[in-house]
Amino acid sequence: MKALGRRIAALIAAQGPLSLAEFMTMALHDPAAGYYATRNPLGADFVTAPEISQMFGELIGLWLAQTWNDQGKPKRPLLVELGPGRGTLMADALRATKRMVEFRDTLEVVLVEASPVLRKAQAETLRDCGVAVRWAANFEPANDGRPLFLIANEFFDALPIRQFVKTERGWCERMVTLDEKDALTFALAPSPAPLMPLNRDSAPSGGVYEQNAAGEAICEQIGHAIARDGGAALVIDYGYSAPGYGETLQAVKGHAFSDVLSDPGASDLSAHVDFKALLDAARRGGAAVYGPLEQGRFLLSLGLRERAGVLSNDARARSDIATLDSVRLAVDHLVNPEQMGHLFKVLAMVPKSAPTPPGFQQC
Ligand code: SAH
Repeated sequence: MKALGRRIAALIAAQGPLSLAEFMTMALHDPAAGYYATRNPLGADFVTAPEISQMFGELIGLWLAQTWNDQGKPKRPLLVELGPGRGTLMADALRATKRMVEFRDTLEVVLVEASPVLRKAQAETLRDCGVAVRWAANFEPANDGRPLFLIANEFFDALPIRQFVKTERGWCERMVTLDEKDALTFALAPSPAPLMPLNRDSAPSGGVYEQNAAGEAICEQIGHAIARDGGAALVIDYGYSAPGYGETLQAVKGHAFSDVLSDPGASDLSAHVDFKALLDAARRGGAAVYGPLEQGRFLLSLGLRERAGVLSNDARARSDIATLDSVRLAVDHLVNPEQMGHLFKVLAMVPKSAPTPPGFQQC
């Protein structure tokens, strides 16, 4: 075990078992050795939609500008991105809306990013974007009435979760503790969690309930801000629509699955997103919610094929076979149900008074 693993083991030896959420927070964000704190994982460990094709960010930029237009072009919109990675999505979205002068004129971009390494990458990518950009460590809704336009791609899956397992004794929390050789291991808390989920009686014995409390709290805040000040949000991630009782926590390193506990800080930890929980939270906040809609259907209804056609024609005119191929492969990667098209889903929030946002008309 490396240094961070040893520190976590020492903490458990001194204080007792950690919840999975506490363990994930250290593994991902420990300032000295946390996964996100120390590296740029995009490309090396996993690939995200904006890194697959510029079309993804472009279509999202147009979606944001359209919802802004539909709400009567409110002044001084805040454009917030949660977990912007390399800044690629934001750069593509801003480029696609370059000619929408009214939208861009009073726009302020806020990037919510925990990782110093990725903040640097984002600053580099967005250096010439032509819009004021600032960074924040956490999502905080503005208090000055500005409408909130927000995008989060593969952010909610990265938030720490807690796991509860259904046993004969009730729902017991899965903790991270030490085995007899002082290595990290999972163990169930001996007594049931006192506040554990009501209305989950139908879960099978051994069923696992994953709770993303941070994600739910953020969605409720976003829903509240949008209901109060206007705006729109898009949450895109891999996950499930109906409550599930399977375990989805995963560790990924170098594009392959790895072990969650063996070397904390060395691999990405994430869990599938419970879209129903996020949707309920956004609704509690007061917003109208749409979705979750499969990513494939969403992108196609926003005009992915048409945009791919334009890029392909340009490439053909230049006899640029490499680009022609990459556009074709990107469309397949983004919409094919066997790739990202089905597992990835999109949730939208707008004020109750706003029209149905683009892409969700058929829902
Ligand atoms: N949206 C990007 C990157 C996804 S990776 C893309 O689609 O390419 C997850 C991103 O969320 C990274 O930028 C990571 O540093 C950030 N992140 C993860 N947990 C975070 C937290 N608790 N607070 C702020 N940012 C976080």
